[in-house]
Amino acid sequence: MPAEERGDRADFDGANLDGANFDGANFDWARLRRAADEVAARAYAPYSGLRVGAAGLCAEGHLVTGCNVENASFGLTLCAECGLVTTLVASGCTRLVAVSVTAGDGRPLTPCGRCRQVLMEHGGPGMLLDGGPGAPPQRLGDLLPGAFDDAELVSRRGQDPGGRPEEPEEPDQARRPEEPEQAGQTGPPGADR
Ligand SMILES: [Zn+2]
Repeated sequence: MPAEERGDRADFDGANLDGANFDGANFDWARLRRAADEVAARAYAPYSGLRVGAAGLCAEGHLVTGCNVENASFGLTLCAECGLVTTLVASGCTRLVAVSVTAGDGRPLTPCGRCRQVLMEHGGPGMLLDGGPGAPPQRLGDLLPGAFDDAELVSRRGQDPGGRPEEPEEPDQARRPEEPEQAGQTGPPGADR
């Protein structure tokens, strides 16, 4: 059940969450940063040793967090921002307005390229990223200019089913007949190349 329907109190009472007009001024960035530090301590990072925590303020005034979860395959590692966005959606919150990402040391880490795109979907270009103590926050739109978004999907969808290239002019000649299987061929495809 969404947090608002449960009647949960907002974690950040008093934050001026006036729609798109949130400018980060007078916001308790230090508190958001501490929350990122705390969740970083629970990260699963046995390979890199870099524990990352992400804390976000959602439009409903709630605090959501996530940490990185590494994998022995390396490529399947989940960044802290992925967990943050999963928590946001699972909590029934609508969108992120402010995010702090740290390595548990009170200093901001910049989101990787993929996570900028992930955050863009759930925060938009006006979402603010913690700049650290004494530094101004950064707009996500400045970190990911020209982002791909759902407007591209809506406007370009269905123009060309499957995006297949045009048929060749003489399809019969363009297509090669299927080659018969060679006897005695064993092993996985490509193993003898
Ligand atoms: Zn990332």
